[in-house]
Amino acid sequence: MRVETPSVLLIYTGGTIGMIENPETGALENFNFDHLLKHVPELKRFNYRISSYQFDPPLDSSDMEPAYWAKLVKIINYNYDYFDGFVILHGTDTMAYTASALSFMLENLSKPVILTGSQLPIGTLRTDGKENLITAIEIAAAKNPDGTAIVPEVCIFFENHLMRGNRTTKINAENFNAFRSFNYPPLARVGIHIKYEPNLIRKPDPDKPLKPHYLFDTNVVILTLFPGIQEEIIHSLLHVPGLKAVVMKTFGSGNAPQKEWFIRELKEATDRGIIIVNITQCASGAVEMGRYETGMHLLEAGVISGYDSTPECAVTKLMFLLGHGLSNKDIRYKMNSCLIGEITKP
Ligand code: ASP
Repeated sequence: MRVETPSVLLIYTGGTIGMIENPETGALENFNFDHLLKHVPELKRFNYRISSYQFDPPLDSSDMEPAYWAKLVKIINYNYDYFDGFVILHGTDTMAYTASALSFMLENLSKPVILTGSQLPIGTLRTDGKENLITAIEIAAAKNPDGTAIVPEVCIFFENHLMRGNRTTKINAENFNAFRSFNYPPLARVGIHIKYEPNLIRKPDPDKPLKPHYLFDTNVVILTLFPGIQEEIIHSLLHVPGLKAVVMKTFGSGNAPQKEWFIRELKEATDRGIIIVNITQCASGAVEMGRYETGMHLLEAGVISGYDSTPECAVTKLMFLLGHGLSNKDIRYKMNSCLIGEITKP
């Protein structure tokens, strides 16, 4: 029996992992991919075929945008049949948004797409980048005995945890342990062994071909409520020309002020066709709109539940659905449905 050499395409978008310190200013600046590879000679010890593609110039992920997500999907789609898996090196700041967006854009994905990065540049002595990169490559190439991918999902691998991409949030600006998936357990834990959790990992139909999507509509906003929020501000925000959807971060299990003006503004907005999705400000847990009277008022105003969605996922899902020109009714329905493991419905 011929055993195929595992193959991985490494896509370098930018981020701290590849940065270098400017000797004059001390600021971290983007650097090229060869520099990054120079610092990981271990890659040669993999018995894999590893090819690479680099964004030129590399991006600090604060500059990430839907056009770059589309570029990533184009690269993956173009190379889909030639590699077992894909590793995307990405700045940590917006990695959770990119992972969420890609999970919707790569319909019928049956190969691993693993995003990773680091808190310290790969050229520094104590870097976390080396281990993240090496393990991400191993996961991207990992197969079951029947030849299917062990993790056919868009994931983030960071500091020993493999997480479903659309469930992740960056929670720490300095610790190596920078990402969490609060509402869904890790798909694998990495120690001496990589311990996968097959029951938590999606099982796609390998006979369905990859269907790439590219369109987004960015006429959306994330609104975080706080005690004392003003009527005029809510009114102005909900009347921004072109606004199509709002991710509203409410208190606790989906609660908001019960003031008459507040509910009226929301009701008028949903009557005008603006979609308002309720997610919690809490890092962990879900919205339950029928639980308290305040939540009931929101339901009556036409606000829909985002269940246990992360903000990153709710906003990218909305932009994705709006970009595909679906009707208001369809978008509301799909926001309430689990499309790719992004929410848990009670
Ligand atoms: N500013 C960097 C970025 O997101 C931070 C990082 O990579 O950790 O591109």
